[in-house]
Amino acid sequence: MLTSHPLPASRAREQAHEIAQLLLRHQRRSDRSEQPGQCRELPCPDCRSTQSEVIEAFVRAGRPVRLVLPAFPGKSPNRAKVLGTLPDMAEELALGFLDSLTGRIRQIYPPGAEIVICSDGRVFSDAVRIPDDDITAYHRELRTMIAALPHRAVSLFTLDEVPEFAGLSHDDMRTVLTERHAVPLEQLRSRVQQGEELPLYRAITRFLFEDGNTPEYRGSRAALQRDARIRAYVVIQRSKAWGEFLAGQFPGSVRLSIHPQPCSAAKLGIHLGKSTGTWLTPWHGVAVDIGGRLVLMKRAEAEGLNCDLVERGGRPSHYVVREPVRSVHEDDTARRTALDATAVTVPDAPKEW
Ligand SMILES: [Zn+2]
Repeated sequence: MLTSHPLPASRAREQAHEIAQLLLRHQRRSDRSEQPGQCRELPCPDCRSTQSEVIEAFVRAGRPVRLVLPAFPGKSPNRAKVLGTLPDMAEELALGFLDSLTGRIRQIYPPGAEIVICSDGRVFSDAVRIPDDDITAYHRELRTMIAALPHRAVSLFTLDEVPEFAGLSHDDMRTVLTERHAVPLEQLRSRVQQGEELPLYRAITRFLFEDGNTPEYRGSRAALQRDARIRAYVVIQRSKAWGEFLAGQFPGSVRLSIHPQPCSAAKLGIHLGKSTGTWLTPWHGVAVDIGGRLVLMKRAEAEGLNCDLVERGGRPSHYVVREPVRSVHEDDTARRTALDATAVTVPDAPKEW
């Protein structure tokens, strides 16, 4: 919808800049040790101008800024990491964060923003070994959570509702997507071997290894590692195919990613909360209330703490610790000023929201 009084160009540029600046505050960046020379400043002016240009086209037209986020695939199949197959407090927090982001954009620019979550679960469920029925149920519950968000600016888009794939089985949807939109696996392998996609490849391999390393797994670690490496290429191939498909489906949009991206790339890596550098996502962890503050951690880590499981609507939702928690990674000053000397210690750096 066009406004009857388009903004002067300078004002549009200013607002686009402000919106980009807001997004940059939540940028998920590469580990510097893995990709030296990325994003020399914080916030990064180069990444900001890339995004600002995309945003400005919406602002000039007086339309809500559309942000597309491939994410929320489905819960990890490893029950040592998550509470079950359905979204829980971990997802609800991330959705709340995205919703609040649209609210903050609206304060800068009244037409606001819309965030389209493009779940990639159906796209690679076979490679990550999540049953398709679990993906369907996960999407259904996600829609219920999204419908309850106050700003009504977040939506969910999945492979299932693409007219191009209507009537196909889930396997056929994936085959057609791959045929039409994917790069060949050999090409991907050679890119990774040249170091181009190495951090992403390592991260996906680690997730697949962890997801397969369930209490029931009886094979060797080496076999699991080999299997994870093979499947990582498929996951990356399909993710990229989905990304390409979405670029055609939602042209001109701000493209968000849960993975760090190179400096000035068209896609912007973003945290799903007030996080500070972690790969853990809601679908790979559980939410833990550590005294008024919610953090993400793996279920097994949470259960190592003195905490209670909270149920909502008859389903497990999150944990609440019985005593205040501090991180082993907090500095000495923080430790000295901690109010409770008997506070329990989180086994790993808490994944803050
Ligand atoms: Zn940058």
